[in-house]
Amino acid sequence: MEFTTLNKSSDLSSGLGFSDLEAGGFEQIVVASDAAAGMRLVVAIHSTALGPAAGGLRIWPYASERDAVVDAMRLAQGMTLKYAAAGVDLGGGKAVLVGKPLGPVEGEARMRAVGRVVESLGGRFRIGADVGSTLDDMEHIFTETDHVNTLPEDLGGVGDISYATARGTVAAMRACAERAWGRGDLRGRRIAVQGLGMVGEKAARMLADQGAELIIADIDDDRVARVTRESGARPVAPEEIHRQDVDVFAPFALGAVVNDDTIGEIKAKVVVGSANNVLAEDRHAHELVDRGIIYGVDFIANAGGAIYDADRLRKGGFVARRALAKVDAIGDRIRQTFQVADAERITPLGAAYRLAERRLADFSAKRAGACRFG
Ligand code: NAD
Repeated sequence: MEFTTLNKSSDLSSGLGFSDLEAGGFEQIVVASDAAAGMRLVVAIHSTALGPAAGGLRIWPYASERDAVVDAMRLAQGMTLKYAAAGVDLGGGKAVLVGKPLGPVEGEARMRAVGRVVESLGGRFRIGADVGSTLDDMEHIFTETDHVNTLPEDLGGVGDISYATARGTVAAMRACAERAWGRGDLRGRRIAVQGLGMVGEKAARMLADQGAELIIADIDDDRVARVTRESGARPVAPEEIHRQDVDVFAPFALGAVVNDDTIGEIKAKVVVGSANNVLAEDRHAHELVDRGIIYGVDFIANAGGAIYDADRLRKGGFVARRALAKVDAIGDRIRQTFQVADAERITPLGAAYRLAERRLADFSAKRAGACRFG
């Protein structure tokens, strides 16, 4: 296995170097390959200020090494913000593997090679499941290292975290509804749900149970048929979902769905969902405010799974009731973004950055003087 560790002292063939790390406040980037196992991996450690950096394993057929490194860095930065804003004592990191997902049997050697890279980081990085990776993959990684977050229940983990993500997003939606209409009750609200995967389908069920009227879209017809049958939702074509005449537009599929092309077509008063990077660019947060649209910030709204899973790292271990209470408190964090936005005359996104940065600054001050690279 070959390793390149980029930590403020070396350079990468991809053209990224220590100046990129310093500019983004990164601590370390590891590029590793194991040709025999078919593994090409990048681990980006953005911050360990609050605790070990944690983030999922994304498996994607990146066109170039540079694309993989840049994506790992972008996602790791997002994890720092997510954990800091959620009040979880973990830092931000991310692993990306160049390639396509493989089944649990064919993928074993590759995942064990990933596990050895994680182990070599000595606990500075904890890996979990993300787009393209599964709990089966985590099980193989766990054979090589203890530093795994998302694990099945029979291995001491909390299992599938998408229920907690859905629950937290619904709590965020209720907080947004309160701001928009003075009451958080979603009964009778018309909600456009984009994406009915692990999180979206569960959220749709919760919203239907709370009396919301659903309009749904997915590129997978079976999922649309199932949710239509179960919740009485009305299906529309995927390209139509954001422009429905609804109260809430809820993205549960892709990022960048609020962009220059779609923003003018959104009729909803509230935009909130579980998708990461809902806004194509930060400037769209200003445009939403100008259009009178209330935005429940993605990295706060979708932190439920991360919060739930992290409870297992507390002394004494996982307590489901406590973990779910923290997931439900996402509503309070969204309310806090509105309070800070009002007080400081900034957007809710700006307020969320500020909340995360304050927590990071508090901890960095406490840990000042500690040398990270020995
Ligand atoms: P998923 O892959 O299970 O579901 C995504 C769904 O979106 C699929 O059903 C897919 O067919 C659908 N989709 C894809 N393109 C679409 C399009 N153009 N229009 C409509 N539907 C489309 O993913 P998930 O785990 O449910 O996560 C959903 C989103 O939430 C992702 O952005 C993910 O990054 C984010 N998220 C998930 C979690 C979690 O706990 N799973 C946590 C935080 C954030």
